[in-house]
Amino acid sequence: MSQAYICHYSEIGLKGKNRHFFEKQLIQNIRKALKRVFPDERMQILNLSKRIVITFERELDDTLASSALKDVFGIVNFGAARIIPSKIEEMEHTCLDLFKNKQFETFAIRAKRADKNFPLISTEINSRLGSKVVERFSKKVNLSNPDVTCHVEVDNEQTYIFIDKKKGVGGLPVEVSGKVLVLLSGGFDSPVAAYYAMKRGAYCEFIHFHSYPYTQKASQDKVKDLAGVLNKYQFKSRLYMAPFAETQKDVVFKCPDKYRIIMYRRFMMRIAERLALQKGIKAIVTGESLGQVASQTLENIGVVEETVTLPVLRPLIGMDKSEIIDMARVIGTHDISKLPHDDVCTRFMPRHPVIRAELTKVKEAEKELDIEALVERDLQEIEVVDVG
Ligand code: ATP
Ligand code: MG
Repeated sequence: MSQAYICHYSEIGLKGKNRHFFEKQLIQNIRKALKRVFPDERMQILNLSKRIVITFERELDDTLASSALKDVFGIVNFGAARIIPSKIEEMEHTCLDLFKNKQFETFAIRAKRADKNFPLISTEINSRLGSKVVERFSKKVNLSNPDVTCHVEVDNEQTYIFIDKKKGVGGLPVEVSGKVLVLLSGGFDSPVAAYYAMKRGAYCEFIHFHSYPYTQKASQDKVKDLAGVLNKYQFKSRLYMAPFAETQKDVVFKCPDKYRIIMYRRFMMRIAERLALQKGIKAIVTGESLGQVASQTLENIGVVEETVTLPVLRPLIGMDKSEIIDMARVIGTHDISKLPHDDVCTRFMPRHPVIRAELTKVKEAEKELDIEALVERDLQEIEVVDVG
């Protein structure tokens, strides 16, 4: 027996003339997600008036298929469906068959007609099928909070019928919004920030600054593992590993210690922007949340951002740390982020980092450094790691 899935999307249906572009990307992403779990299966994916229908030639493991579809951005809900001819008798028969294996006391039938030529309107289909279920199983109709709902979607010749609609992640298909460069540290925040950028259709590349050999190699592996988990949502990823120890040394030796963190950040931004411009990337993403730590006051965020002209997106700006950690659990980065990590910024940590930096003073202190030469050298030393 063949197997089908129906996926519904919402927002991308609202995009006017761009709709086709969004749908095409969503279909591509669905194909990649399913190919990952079923590399050898043939599948057909059709875009049929506001729903995407995937058909496999044989019955497959529903848990695997659902685990792939539940993480594809753009899908609002989906379900494993039977495809039957658009005939009321077939609908009745299949509906009873679907309910047969279910434990339920109350139920609802929800029919939708994409084909307005079908002789019965939706409410008539609902009551025809509903009365059959009542008759056969002696159960009650409950339209507001049923135990089980049977969805019947009538297209031209075919009808899709399914129960157990599953919730998708929503958002927009990865890639429709263009590329961003995520500053990925080993902590909890930046991977979650990347997830939210992807959720709004951004394709993420990652840059990580490390101080090897002064920090451990394991910290770099940790960041690679994080990028590997995030790859699940966008299928292939690129991680730029940027050696930062030499620049850090310059900052430590030549500038007042209270400005260290701000200066590291300013260098990270400059290098990230330079790389982004080379790669046609249109924005930078960080895991900052307002007021979370000293470097994330409005003043310090402003002083750091002043180094770049590309937009800097901060998807976590309004989230509490506990909310971010909960989300890290949901997306699968939590257990990696929690591992010990020696971060560039905790090296030579000043005892009293400035909380509200003044730009003029920071710029004055930076005069001791050959900024252009440092940025240029760090850029040259970036290593590229392809993930997935
Ligand atoms: P995270 O949990 O992401 O490490 P954090 O709460 O530790 O964040 P900071 O360390 O102040 O916050 O970093 C703020 C943001 O700066 C990070 O979310 C990340 O986007 C970026 N960042 C910090 N350190 C690095 C690094 N070594 N490499 C790349 N980006 C970094
Ligand atoms: Mg950090």
